[in-house]
Amino acid sequence: MERKQIAAGNWKMNMDYNEGRDLAKAVVSGLQPSDVLVVLGTPYIHLKNINGIIKDVSNIKLAAQNCHQEENGAYTGEVSAAMLKSCGVDFVILGHSERREYFGEDDKLIARKIDIVLRHGMQPIYCCGEKLEVREAGKHEELVGEQVKTALAHLTKEQMAQVVVAYEPVWAIGTGKTATPGQAQQMHKHIRSILREKFGKEVADATSILYGGSVKPGNAREIFAQPDVDGGLIGGAALKASDFLAIADSF
Ligand code: PEP
Repeated sequence: MERKQIAAGNWKMNMDYNEGRDLAKAVVSGLQPSDVLVVLGTPYIHLKNINGIIKDVSNIKLAAQNCHQEENGAYTGEVSAAMLKSCGVDFVILGHSERREYFGEDDKLIARKIDIVLRHGMQPIYCCGEKLEVREAGKHEELVGEQVKTALAHLTKEQMAQVVVAYEPVWAIGTGKTATPGQAQQMHKHIRSILREKFGKEVADATSILYGGSVKPGNAREIFAQPDVDGGLIGGAALKASDFLAIADSF
């Protein structure tokens, strides 16, 4: 098993239908051939169309930003894993801090979402990370460790091999404040050590752990150079093709 380098964009609730199409086309046309996997995490309305735009490019994949934990049923306004799969989705971002903050998601619920995404043959991008007050209290490793264990510890080794982890300190998301490369490395190493305890060295070493939080073309290279940082989950900078492409070129 080999660890993949990944540049994943999270468009959040941005880009209308035409803007999203144009952004995906600009990423496809500017992308250099490389081993880096580029992931476009788009709102639901874009998935099917962008699947068509990226289908001939082997190193671009499609991500949704959420999915419901049940198979189907009376959940008005929700979208199921089977629906995502049928639109060509490869990855699903789960547990983003905005889902935790504004939609009350916790790691027990996220664990159920991870299960259903895996059951439908897609790969979860599991997000974790601490708020500023937790870091200031020196409890960040403990908290992130608990998040990771609650959401992932029940998986088999084979299932864990499908999961990408994204460490996103909440205080760095959309704030312009970035963790230092040293802070990112320290937490990524900690997460990998938890994965090693639970799933063994081979799975832990093969898990891509992404950093998220105000990654920009100007700081990506230094962060991605850390030994346990395997790429980024990119919010704001993923909305401009040239910035996102520059980040994808920063490994
Ligand atoms: C994110 O949305 O996951 C994120 C990291 O956002 P930003 O890059 O804007 O901080």
